[in-house]
Amino acid sequence: MRFHIITIFPEMFDSYLKESIIGRAIKNKLIEVKFYNPRDFIKAPKNNYRPVDDKPYGGGPGMVMRAEPILKAVEKAISKTKNKKKTKIILFSIAGKKFDTNHAKNSVKKYTDIILISGRYEGIDARVQKIFKAEEISIGDYVLTGGELPAMILIDSISRQIPGVLGKYESLEEERISSSEVYTRPEILKYKNKNYKVPKILLSGNHKKIEEWKRGK
Ligand code: SAM
Repeated sequence: MRFHIITIFPEMFDSYLKESIIGRAIKNKLIEVKFYNPRDFIKAPKNNYRPVDDKPYGGGPGMVMRAEPILKAVEKAISKTKNKKKTKIILFSIAGKKFDTNHAKNSVKKYTDIILISGRYEGIDARVQKIFKAEEISIGDYVLTGGELPAMILIDSISRQIPGVLGKYESLEEERISSSEVYTRPEILKYKNKNYKVPKILLSGNHKKIEEWKRGK
């Protein structure tokens, strides 16, 4: 799977993509992440200032990301995809469809390339979505300062559905009996003169009972 990120802040992704499971997936070439900065698609004037935003039509606070540099960045990303029919374009928006695990699973089945457009300021000129018929996706009912965290969330959630990305000791949470309540050593944790014990059932060795307990949690 190749992720193509349209963002004016590509450095924000650096440490996240280097570490742990996602870092390993990139090293093992199970996923690839490419960046396209809309600023690079603006011809720099003499003073070298390259605005990606402008005032909103109809007034209102804040600035809006201009369509042209984003259109060019997306076109560049499309030119780097392997199969246009298996390419999905997603634009992050608070008003979009809520992202979930099913979306992540289907993405792995259907696409080889996903283009993720991260907005900033008051959002992106609406014509970008219309031109590419991009799917608008929200990651939750809260407002973030930009679409970079949503892009990282999609990369993470979609990547762990790709066979081989999760290692031997990790597993797909949604495919096994698991509990949100987990314990490890010590069996009795002493904290501020109090003992906090691991539930007895987990020490019983009775796997049937343990599974029942996990289901109930
Ligand atoms: N006034 C705008 C609005 O209500 O839509 C605020 C835009 S927000 C500050 C800037 C960008 O962050 C958005 O264009 C979108 O790309 C991204 N964003 C913020 N919250 C998001 C969320 N919950 N899900 C997906 N993207 C989000």
